[in-house]
Amino acid sequence: MPYSNNSSSRFSNRSNSSSRYNNNSSSRDSFGGRPRYGGGGGRRYGKKSGPKQLDHSLFVKVAEPLPEAETKITHTFKDFGFASWIDAALTEKGMINPTPIQDQAIKPVMEGNDVIGLAGTGTGKTLAFLLPLLHNMTLDPKKSAVILAPTRELALQIEQELHKITNRSQGIYSTVCIGGTPIRKQMFRLSRHNHFIIATPGRFKDLINRKAIHMDSFSTIVLDEVDRMLDMGFIDEIRYILELLPKNTQKLFFSATTEGKTRQLMETFLVNPVNVLLSSNVSSNNVHQDIVPVTRNDNKMDLLMDILNKDEVKKVLIFCETKMAVENLYRDLQQHGFDVESIHGDKTQMHRQIALKKFKSNEAWIMIGTDVASRGIDVGDITHVINYELPRTEEDYIHRIGRTGRGNKIGWALTFVKKY
Ligand code: AMP
Repeated sequence: MPYSNNSSSRFSNRSNSSSRYNNNSSSRDSFGGRPRYGGGGGRRYGKKSGPKQLDHSLFVKVAEPLPEAETKITHTFKDFGFASWIDAALTEKGMINPTPIQDQAIKPVMEGNDVIGLAGTGTGKTLAFLLPLLHNMTLDPKKSAVILAPTRELALQIEQELHKITNRSQGIYSTVCIGGTPIRKQMFRLSRHNHFIIATPGRFKDLINRKAIHMDSFSTIVLDEVDRMLDMGFIDEIRYILELLPKNTQKLFFSATTEGKTRQLMETFLVNPVNVLLSSNVSSNNVHQDIVPVTRNDNKMDLLMDILNKDEVKKVLIFCETKMAVENLYRDLQQHGFDVESIHGDKTQMHRQIALKKFKSNEAWIMIGTDVASRGIDVGDITHVINYELPRTEEDYIHRIGRTGRGNKIGWALTFVKKY
């Protein structure tokens, strides 16, 4: 739960933490009075969603990671009885112990159940479904799975996870079907047997319509980040795809929330699902959240650079609202000598991938992006998310800050808020 009115201990912490991120004492003073952020509880943004309607109390919260006891692991990977090549691959990668979502989801997936996995980014959920599916495909090579992901970047990252475990010698084939890349090539690759088709919903539907996909061939469908797919407006595509699948197809839905439309979708399509609901996977619980007040006398860019120059700020994702704002800030930071990259919808797929690669490898330690383009970013060591411009909705905010505080790490989310 974000910062609320009746949380005095958090509030005192808030004042301290805000001062860390603002060198300007007058700004700090303006941040002092708690009632300004109280907002009377209840809804945090009005009907017309937009930056002005978001209550700023949403942006302030002290991280509350779950106590270790609540994320106790009860298996090692060896306990699952995976095919020996999977065990060997895990050992080679130094992966001995499953993460909490893997600990609880692997068995029910292996046994063929429908599963709801409530898991945020960075919790190891990709291997939670890939490992048992790979095991089942080893037993029955005719099995195949379609994995739908909300963004091209996430689809590519899922394939990378797959390639961490498999290599050519296992004869496991996969094809990634995403927009922004030639569809003919994908159609060609789809003409042979694929164990995994990893796709974004729009491109996948397009391929169904071109008769390049045979829906009755899938034994499993995985919807990764269901809530984001719905946020991004893919509800019709997802319903269309689910309705074309044979009734007995195993369905695995992973999502950071099970609210609203996500729940409706689950109730319509899942049969007696096994729920793996790990509250530790509310990724924002691992994130210290605070605002950076911007007064009339402040230069926003200077405030940003003050933050970026702090030692603890090691890897940063900065959000702007528009593509143009992203580009402007990118240019400004570059001119000031920062190693920065940018990502937004006007960039070609190739440019986005290059930018992400540089960010991942620390060639650039700052990435600036828009909401949509940044949703698929899976970089485990982001220390700070900075909302240089306000998110439009609470959902956008939650998605933004979920890019930090991954796994068991504690992250920071700082939101620039105009105070005049
Ligand atoms: P994901 O949440 O699936 O995006 O995974 C986040 C990162 O954790 C990826 O780089 C995975 O390769 C890594 N990972 C997943 N499971 C484990 C594990 N059991 N032990 C160590 N690393 C893992």
